[in-house]
Amino acid sequence: MAYKLLKQEGSARRGAFETVHGTVQTPAFMNVATAGAIKGGLSAFDLKDIRCQVMLCNTYHLHLRPGDKLVADLGGLHKFTRWQGPILTDSGGFQVFSLAKLRKITEEGVAFSSHLDGHRIFMGPEESMQIQANLGSTIAMAFDECVENPAPYSYSKDSCARTTRWLRRCKAEMARLKSEGKAVNPDQLLFGINQGCTFEDLRVEHMKEIAQLDLDGYAIGGLAVGEPAPVMYQIISAVEPHMPREKIRYLMGVGTPGNILEAVYRGVDLFDCVMPSRNARHGHLNTWNGIINIKNAKYERDESPIDPECDCPVCKNFSRAYIRHLFKADEMLGMRLAVMHNLYFYNHLMERIRQELDAGTFGQFHDHYVQLLDTRI
Ligand SMILES: [Zn+2]
Repeated sequence: MAYKLLKQEGSARRGAFETVHGTVQTPAFMNVATAGAIKGGLSAFDLKDIRCQVMLCNTYHLHLRPGDKLVADLGGLHKFTRWQGPILTDSGGFQVFSLAKLRKITEEGVAFSSHLDGHRIFMGPEESMQIQANLGSTIAMAFDECVENPAPYSYSKDSCARTTRWLRRCKAEMARLKSEGKAVNPDQLLFGINQGCTFEDLRVEHMKEIAQLDLDGYAIGGLAVGEPAPVMYQIISAVEPHMPREKIRYLMGVGTPGNILEAVYRGVDLFDCVMPSRNARHGHLNTWNGIINIKNAKYERDESPIDPECDCPVCKNFSRAYIRHLFKADEMLGMRLAVMHNLYFYNHLMERIRQELDAGTFGQFHDHYVQLLDTRI
């Protein structure tokens, strides 16, 4: 069994997830390296310094550039990027539905035009699994339909059924690729994705269905796409009792530190989000007292670190005044240092959550920080 539940406090879970590329201590936050690099100029070496456990790469982007066949020829993503820890690749589905143009969805899959040069591409469950087999990630995500929010009930229902059919095809295709020796990582894991928009009954029914497929992990997708946060929490609470207890659970694309605390509280183990790196590139930095805007004039002569409580490589060495100056002067280093700090903050937040769960004090930790960390100061 890959996932080991070590301790539980209410619904919150402290666990360990074993993979061929190392053990992930959960709850954990995956650091998003869209095209094999964190936006902001961070490499695999930096990821170690900021205590990243899992790197997440995007199938759609890597399929377009440099092409997954080239990555396979060069030994897969681990060898290509030099990150030796676990890598999760998404299915490409989310980008196909959010970035690509002129989509046409059929039972077979989705035909669409590349957002880069407009050339026609077809991606279905088999193609997504083939691309991810070439990338050689530790964890592959199943190809699902990402429905727009809000969506009509009947469309959402049909889409859930199709996503289940696609999931069966993903599982079969991954097995075929492995048995024919066509997977760069023969131990690649497969996670299924729960869908159903904001309809509780569809969500629960779909979760029950995919739980029977005995996958390596289960994700909740299609949330944090514009619905109010309380609706998201309600869906997680409704779906959670139907997620297999002995499998790892991943909430896709979430979120703020407050969102993460609320989701851990409701039994989620794994997260990813572009928010910390994107916010950092705009000068919005996470601290244990809330979010600061480093471009603010009040930091012009401030010699203290971004967060006096943070022991990241940036806070150990540089002042707010210096980082503010770098932003004002449009120096690339400003963005790089900001991204390093924010990702470290998220990774460290997860570490703190794990410590609190180990000590049985997560409830108090949650109550103290859930509002505070998302406050702009
Ligand atoms: Zn820091």
